[in-house]
Amino acid sequence: MVAAVRDGERKLPDNCRSRSFVIVSDMQTPISRSKALAAVAAAGAAALFLGRRTPAPAATAEHYQVAYTDEQWRSRLSPEAYDVLRHAGTEAPGSSPLDEFFKPGTYACAGCNLALFDSKTKFESGTGWPSFYQPLPHAVQTTSDSSLGFERTEVHCSRCGGHLGHVFDDGPKPTGLRYCMNGVALAFHPATNKA
Ligand SMILES: [Zn+2]
Repeated sequence: MVAAVRDGERKLPDNCRSRSFVIVSDMQTPISRSKALAAVAAAGAAALFLGRRTPAPAATAEHYQVAYTDEQWRSRLSPEAYDVLRHAGTEAPGSSPLDEFFKPGTYACAGCNLALFDSKTKFESGTGWPSFYQPLPHAVQTTSDSSLGFERTEVHCSRCGGHLGHVFDDGPKPTGLRYCMNGVALAFHPATNKA
């Protein structure tokens, strides 16, 4: 547990972080999880005042099967899901109940309910974000994201364009990929026990 948390903090600088996490990642000495989360919260609050708003992929995209105006999305989603899905926000690491959660089922898009990941492909990455090594076929699309000054691969829902997180190439077998997802962008549907 402790090792996992430290591992997650160590990985922050080059993983799922957003601009909100710069304060955390710039710290040179080990810090506690609570301090890290407090710093993230403070950074997030500061970011609100600074007007951190990144256009969601859908805002500039050509066409998605499920499409609403920004105001309609705002009214349909929780404030946290709206920030992530529609404005490429990043939830605080360790904040999602889906992070250390491994029940059988399917993870769907919180915006349009398209099935995105099977629980069989979920793994404990130690980053504080729900992580998968493979999406369901045709469920997600990717774009290049250089918003932090270096290249990352952004992942979004193929049906509504909602931002989900990023994908990195340091995942486990068989794909070697790590889909680092925001839990607030996902809706878990438990597997049904069919005989
Ligand atoms: Zn969607």
